[in-house]
Amino acid sequence: MSHSSARRTGPTRSHQDPSVGPLRVEFTSPVNLDQIKDQNPNLQPGGRFRPRDCEAVMKVAIIIPFRKREEHLKFWLFYLHPILQRQQLDYGVYVINQDGDQIFNRAKLLNVGYLEALKDYDYECFVFSDVDLIPMDDRNTYKCFSQPRHLSVSMDKFGFRLPYNQYFGGVSSMSKEQYLKINGFPNNYWGWGGEDDDIFNRLSSKGMSISRPSGDVGKCRMIRHDRDKKNDPNPQRFDRIAHTRDTMHKDGINSLSYQVVKTEKFDLFTKVTVDVGKP
Ligand code: BGC
Repeated sequence: MSHSSARRTGPTRSHQDPSVGPLRVEFTSPVNLDQIKDQNPNLQPGGRFRPRDCEAVMKVAIIIPFRKREEHLKFWLFYLHPILQRQQLDYGVYVINQDGDQIFNRAKLLNVGYLEALKDYDYECFVFSDVDLIPMDDRNTYKCFSQPRHLSVSMDKFGFRLPYNQYFGGVSSMSKEQYLKINGFPNNYWGWGGEDDDIFNRLSSKGMSISRPSGDVGKCRMIRHDRDKKNDPNPQRFDRIAHTRDTMHKDGINSLSYQVVKTEKFDLFTKVTVDVGKP
């Protein structure tokens, strides 16, 4: 028996792993939704996919907090759909769009995404991703691990290294169990910053550690942009992250309230527009 035919009888996942490694990621030429749709003929409505020829690695909901970043979302869809399919995930993409012009609340949108995705399907893993972050290596699998995972470990904007060891921003993943153990995410971080540090504090207070890919596999690019309106740095963030351990049991998925304005199933993603209120 030749080496290659011996490999074909091996375990399903390893011999069929179609990842290609480092990827070229650039944002100079615009992409359009029709082109992305044509390039991904196996997607189901709402931006869903499951591999046909093998058992999926995991059921993953990708949650993207969003407001007025259509151009970034196109790049995200353009790059991520092929990667996620090569990663053989049973996945759905959920864009959680904050309605209105009140101050932005990233972590609350992530909580909404968790609940809304579960109304659709029995997801076991949640990847929380900013809309402007694109992985540069498809071996950085968007799935869950035995510990919560930080996926965007070497971002170009930080010189391809972690800005600090506890950094948990950008892209992360958690199983349902890990997420529930920390009562989800805080709902009261309005404006930019601190919510990811609060999530890190929640995880460490529950005795979990952060798993990460290597710096090489975890490289990613951020799409450059001006600061968003209504998302100024939150001056309360330092005080809040100093008290995570006291507040996390009453502020989280158990205290979440929001109104869904509409849910739209587009070809490449599901968009949930939501009123999350105001501070
Ligand atoms: C903020 C985080 C942010 C990080 C990197 C910290 O000071 O609290 O929310 O992700 O800086 O920009």
